[in-house]
Amino acid sequence: MSDCIFCKIINREIPSAVVYEDEKVMAFKDINPVAPVHVLIVPKKHIGSVKEITEENACILADIHLAAKKIAQELGIYEKGFRLINNCGEDAGQTVLHLHYHLIGGKTLGAKIL
Ligand code: 5GP
Ligand code: ZN
Repeated sequence: MSDCIFCKIINREIPSAVVYEDEKVMAFKDINPVAPVHVLIVPKKHIGSVKEITEENACILADIHLAAKKIAQELGIYEKGFRLINNCGEDAGQTVLHLHYHLIGGKTLGAKIL
């Protein structure tokens, strides 16, 4: 999508610190990290949010999880653990309308809300 900031990052129109890329998925450092490791994992094809996941495109969620495992290993947070977080929609505080998962780790993380 032409006015989507993450599509612009994927197309290299906006710079980012890319940590992982394959045919379907890209991951880059969050511009405003909340932990020593804070990476955003996104589908290269624009999907607005979890609400746009369908039976046809749901395999991207497996691709994102497989990428998350690899990135966690490469960035040294696999053994001690990490969070993989998605915010969907207004009440969850989603600010960028391109599906993304936050991969966070590298310290003892804050309190769980559930
Ligand atoms: P959300 O609040 O939608 O779950 O997460 C959006 C995330 O995107 C935020 O953590 C924010 O810091 C990050 N972000 C927003 N704009 C940019 C950008 O231009 N570059 C990068 N690397 N991260 C961004
Ligand atoms: Zn997009």
